[in-house]
Amino acid sequence: MAAGRIEVLGVPFDPLGMEEAVKTIASWLEGEECHQIVTANPETVMKAGEDRELMAILREARLVVADGIGIVWAARRQGNPLPERVPGVELAERLVALAAQRGYRVYLLGGAPGVAAEAARCLEAKYPGLVIAGVQHGYFSPEEEEGVVAAVAAARPHLLLVGLGMPKQEKWIYRHRQRLGAAVAIGVGGSLDVFAGRVCRAPGWMCRLGLEWLYRFLTQPQRLFRMLALPRFAVKVLVQGRS
Ligand code: UDP
Repeated sequence: MAAGRIEVLGVPFDPLGMEEAVKTIASWLEGEECHQIVTANPETVMKAGEDRELMAILREARLVVADGIGIVWAARRQGNPLPERVPGVELAERLVALAAQRGYRVYLLGGAPGVAAEAARCLEAKYPGLVIAGVQHGYFSPEEEEGVVAAVAAARPHLLLVGLGMPKQEKWIYRHRQRLGAAVAIGVGGSLDVFAGRVCRAPGWMCRLGLEWLYRFLTQPQRLFRMLALPRFAVKVLVQGRS
């Protein structure tokens, strides 16, 4: 774990805001080794508490940023504030914009068949000059996995966005990191659905009030079970604070 990280229930977070995170990651985009970036929210932290493999990946990741108001709140309660939340979807889009400016190759992997290709079209329209090095949907079979890794490696992307859901995407990147040929690989959850226009983000005022989780629940009520991680996370942080 890098020095200066702030732990929330055992998960180390880098105390970087959006601008610093973009700047830091930008400095790795031309590197040779694969830098794994994780945007972790309370659900990720709760999952890591029961999944040792995920916890080990989080502790080894090159950068872990606070994706969600819950993490920022928990860090503040512990007396080690994190500067701000760094939503994964915003970070991913900032990096795509930067890639377009600098001519870096971007690979989109994940989502239902057609989503990554649609996301590529939308992003290319929004960011002229963007070079999409390849797209791949996220429902390939274990037998197809080697071929998927080989295709990514052949494209040698500077930036690889992997939207397979947490923790599958973190484990997938970690497992293949040395063979992906990508300078930076980041798990982006459902961001490709957002880029493709299939899922809407919460309106700005809800994001500013830290209510993105409420919007997600209202628009995707099937997430209720997963969202129970939020109150469990809050209780765990509060109990820890008293001990
Ligand atoms: N997904 C995928 N392959 C899978 C499981 C999920 O490509 O085997 C995609 C799914 O289509 C969606 C994303 O992963 O685009 C998960 O989105 P979600 O908002 O649930 O992300 P999370 O909150 O888990 O990060």
